[in-house]
Amino acid sequence: MLLHEPERTKADLNFSLLGMPVRISPWFWVLAVMLGMRLKDPALLLIWVIAVFISILWHEMGHALVIRAFGFRPWITLHGMGGLASYDPARHRRFVGVTSWEQIAISLAGPGAGFLLAALLAGILRAAGFGEHLFFERPFYLPVVEELPNVRLEFLLNKVFFLCVAWGLVNLLPVYPLDGGQIARELFLRCNLRDGIRQSLRLSIASAVLFGIYAAAKWEDYFVLLWFGFIAYENYRALQSYLGRGG
Ligand SMILES: [Zn+2]
Repeated sequence: MLLHEPERTKADLNFSLLGMPVRISPWFWVLAVMLGMRLKDPALLLIWVIAVFISILWHEMGHALVIRAFGFRPWITLHGMGGLASYDPARHRRFVGVTSWEQIAISLAGPGAGFLLAALLAGILRAAGFGEHLFFERPFYLPVVEELPNVRLEFLLNKVFFLCVAWGLVNLLPVYPLDGGQIARELFLRCNLRDGIRQSLRLSIASAVLFGIYAAAKWEDYFVLLWFGFIAYENYRALQSYLGRGG
């Protein structure tokens, strides 16, 4: 599922960013278009795809930079379920893998990078004299710009704001394998080495189901319901295989 890298194809886009390899699967573009299906104007749909690309790549860069700070060599993949920053823990620290606090820092870095980008862009807008066009919407103080001289730039900024904050918050849900699920797993394991994985999987299933139902009821977002339903099912299967093993 989300933790696995997709197969390499000829349609992949490969480049390097700050010395880190980035690979974009064609399914990433399919995902971005599907998420923007409600937009009827092709120009706005294109800007939406650019906003998804910027926000998800930025999020993964956050993970990757912290992975690199811990002495590993990360690479980034954007695919049909979002993005992934990977590294090989055995390759650079043969005898000591990543510690649980390092894993928690790596997991926090993605959402943290998104919140930072939203704050940075809001700061730039203010510094450039567009402060009166900038508002903060509750409950999450999501930055929103209104009536900028350029409508398309306004649309792009609003989508980047939304994606940075919303993608970060959704990723912090204690649902495995999202960032929050990895953090919850590390914390559960610290408290209970024997049962931690199973406890974190149970929390993961409950949170995924509840959030899926919430998204469908509150925003009529059935894509999110489907996505979290799939994640809950994968977690359920993982839990069953743990229970099957006993001990
Ligand atoms: Zn992440």
